[in-house]
Amino acid sequence: MSDCIFCKISQGQFGTSFLYEDEEIVVFRDINPKAKTHLLIVPKKHIDSVMTLEESDELLMGKLVMAGKKVAADLKLDGYKLQIHVGESGGQEVFHVHVHLLSNQG
Ligand code: AMP
Ligand code: ZN
Repeated sequence: MSDCIFCKISQGQFGTSFLYEDEEIVVFRDINPKAKTHLLIVPKKHIDSVMTLEESDELLMGKLVMAGKKVAADLKLDGYKLQIHVGESGGQEVFHVHVHLLSNQG
């Protein structure tokens, strides 16, 4: 998706600093944090929303949770929330699927 902000960020187009990166996933800080630690766990593959996930995305979605777990451990967080907003009425603003990691620690 050429006009997608999270595609551009995950491709490194803005020089965003990543707390984690592998071939499939990046983790970076939310620009408008709603908690002391507010991270976004984002697949490099463009998927609009949980509503448009396909069966073949199942493993990737699990990997997002595992990446969040790893970064949380690196930051020594002993508790956090993982949130996914789904659809406009679910509070989704950026239509490139992502998981929020929120913690009052860090
Ligand atoms: P949502 O789509 O509601 O799950 O949330 C999108 C999140 O992306 C919001 O918390 C925004 O603050 C965040 N966001 C939007 N643009 C950027 C950006 N350029 N860098 C980091 N975070 C962003
Ligand atoms: Zn995208």
